[in-house]
Amino acid sequence: MTVRYGVIGNPIAHSRSPLIHRAFAEQTGVDLDYMAILAPLDGFNATVAQFRSEGGLGLNVTVPFKAEAFALCATLSERAQRAGAVNTLIFPADSRSSDVSSDIRGDNTDGVGLLRDLAFHQIQLKGKKVLLLGAGGASRGVLAPLLAERPARLLIANRRAATAEQLATDFQDLADTQLGACALDTLPAEPFDLIINATSASLSGKQLPLPDALIGQNTTVYDMAYGRAPTVFMQWGAALGATAFDGLGMLVEQAAESFYLWHGIRPQTDHVRDLLKGSADLFGASRLG
Ligand code: NDP
Repeated sequence: MTVRYGVIGNPIAHSRSPLIHRAFAEQTGVDLDYMAILAPLDGFNATVAQFRSEGGLGLNVTVPFKAEAFALCATLSERAQRAGAVNTLIFPADSRSSDVSSDIRGDNTDGVGLLRDLAFHQIQLKGKKVLLLGAGGASRGVLAPLLAERPARLLIANRRAATAEQLATDFQDLADTQLGACALDTLPAEPFDLIINATSASLSGKQLPLPDALIGQNTTVYDMAYGRAPTVFMQWGAALGATAFDGLGMLVEQAAESFYLWHGIRPQTDHVRDLLKGSADLFGASRLG
């Protein structure tokens, strides 16, 4: 029997999630229908309710609804609770409750997606100096798994320093490491092993005001965003000698984790990584999810 899933966001037309999930379905033999669903900015809950009433069993959630999805859930995984944001909604198959939120479970797979992609690129975190740029939903989602890898130091830097400081305070209890926060314009002029860009600056092609001294002899820069060409952040790092990666692999890996939550099967991701790289229209809008 065909089961229905989808990704909900605004805008949504350029989402690669349908392509990714259909490729996973083909690989694993799951008979599914996965669609991109545009919700009005003031109509997230109503659109979810409509999808459920039509038999939908789960949704991925992307910009700008991750916080609304969090608020909608009756139960949350520990990682979603920590993140304060939900990118995967799970609806029980045997229930079509008229109260849309009464039995929805929420999870957040962004963190595991990032960690699997870092592992794919053979990037170790244990004992390393890590700089996390940005303090929005994506940073919040990846902080716990990053800290679990026990870097020696993790510094969060944000345009608005107060948001970074709040994040460091909120995750201090998980920190078996030196966890700190600062403003982007007060970054120390010293090298880090790994610099992760979790700001949305790359989506508008803006380079962050970063000191070149952040790049050392063995620095890796990782941008959660991606584009047709390397992002300006990746270009900055590469020009200074760093190894640079974009967030395409994270996108595939977070999707694989959602697929597992829904279907109980963990798909292989290498083939889908290759498929996306070869997808001609992939970067039409540089949107994620
Ligand atoms: P949010 O809107 O929650 O946060 C945006 C962050 O970027 C804030 O810290 C904000 O700083 C900062 N920022 C925005 N513009 C600028 C700028 N011009 N200069 C400096 N800082 C800026 O977004 P998310 O956290 O949800 O997403 C962040 C990025 O991660 C996006 O590029 C998104 O596409 C990507 N992402 C990728 C995923 C993947 O699978 N590859 C998954 C999830 C996200 P301030 O607080 O000061 O406003």
